[in-house]
Amino acid sequence: MSFDGLGLSDSLLKAITELGFEKPTPVQEQTIPQILKGKDIIASAQTGTGKTAAFGLPTLDILEPGKRIQCLILEPTRELAQQVEESLKDYSKHLKTRVGVVYGGVKYGKQREMLDKGVDILVATPGRLLDHIGQGNISLKNVRILILDEVDRMLDMGFLPDVSKLIKMCPEERQTLFFSATLPRAIQSLMKWVLKNPEVVEVGRRRAPAETVTHAFYPVVERQKYKLLIELLERTHFESVLIFTRTKMNADFISRRLEKLEHSVGVLHSDRSQGERTASLKGFKSGKFEVLVATDIAARGLDIAGISHVINYDVPLNAEDYVHRIGRTGRAEKEGDAFTLLTEDELKNAAAIEHFIGKKIDRIKLDGFDYMYSALFESEEKLASRKATSRAYGRLSR
Ligand code: AMP
Repeated sequence: MSFDGLGLSDSLLKAITELGFEKPTPVQEQTIPQILKGKDIIASAQTGTGKTAAFGLPTLDILEPGKRIQCLILEPTRELAQQVEESLKDYSKHLKTRVGVVYGGVKYGKQREMLDKGVDILVATPGRLLDHIGQGNISLKNVRILILDEVDRMLDMGFLPDVSKLIKMCPEERQTLFFSATLPRAIQSLMKWVLKNPEVVEVGRRRAPAETVTHAFYPVVERQKYKLLIELLERTHFESVLIFTRTKMNADFISRRLEKLEHSVGVLHSDRSQGERTASLKGFKSGKFEVLVATDIAARGLDIAGISHVINYDVPLNAEDYVHRIGRTGRAEKEGDAFTLLTEDELKNAAAIEHFIGKKIDRIKLDGFDYMYSALFESEEKLASRKATSRAYGRLSR
């Protein structure tokens, strides 16, 4: 199947060719003709499947430039909002459609100016959008197409009340496109309420990491985690490495320490100012920073090409996030390496990941590293029996 058969206009086909897209991805193939027909859509598709073009391309074809905010796209994070705006600008470069973005953490002035001039498509995070509406800078009365992207993330981040408020402000007569990696029960009632007779599109969840990615667990005691991280970095010839931490505090701690070791480092988490977040991401993408330390919430869904290594400083709590995180490397058939530090407390999460991908993940002991005792190098049976014994004696195993 080529893009030609999907019903898109010549201007868009030209932009697509210039971007180097040769054929549509499965989610694009399934959704673009339906959206062009005016149908509502529920698509369960993860980032990386080409979903931005899946909703962006037909939307650009349906809209007639000129009326303010005919399309509203809601995104959970500022970085995703920026990324979607940039993609839409790329797709619409041969059209007159104006695309704008609003998100929090920056001053209102420039956003107000952009809104005063008028945009056809507005990409927004919910909180800042509500602020602009409260200030009378935005009206949603012209919205013909409402796109809710990464709905499960918006749910996780507690945005559902704001999202519901915003949906109520849009005209009832509209087309609604609903994209979410997963469809948990909590969002099913929202789906029933906002969608009319939707077309359901499911693109297989990616359960397995790309075959070009080598990945393994590196068991270690909590106290030696940082030391092992440094050792791994020192022994690796990396071009660019993305380090994920569970907490903002650890992200800050690691980035400060790496800077002292003369690495060029960017940090991405929600307590950093928007200016810093943008500079970190840009710097990492352009190669100015060789390391980016990020919390998962800030980094999910970001499209960063050419990362040679991913290090999970903590085991991801959500098994699907593991595949997602290590999927940041090894993209487009390139080789990639992913290391995950594993402590005893995280065994349950590790087992959940192995269950999810249907495979045992290798445990690697780094040669020559001065390990304190780590129970994780014992065989699982031995570990289980030792735990049972220590429980019997009423003390923690160590
Ligand atoms: P997304 O899932 O929207 O974040 O897209 C992931 C990446 O795939 C982005 O870098 C897109 O530019 C790229 N992409 C989207 N559609 C295609 C396509 N049909 N062919 C090649 N690359 C694509």
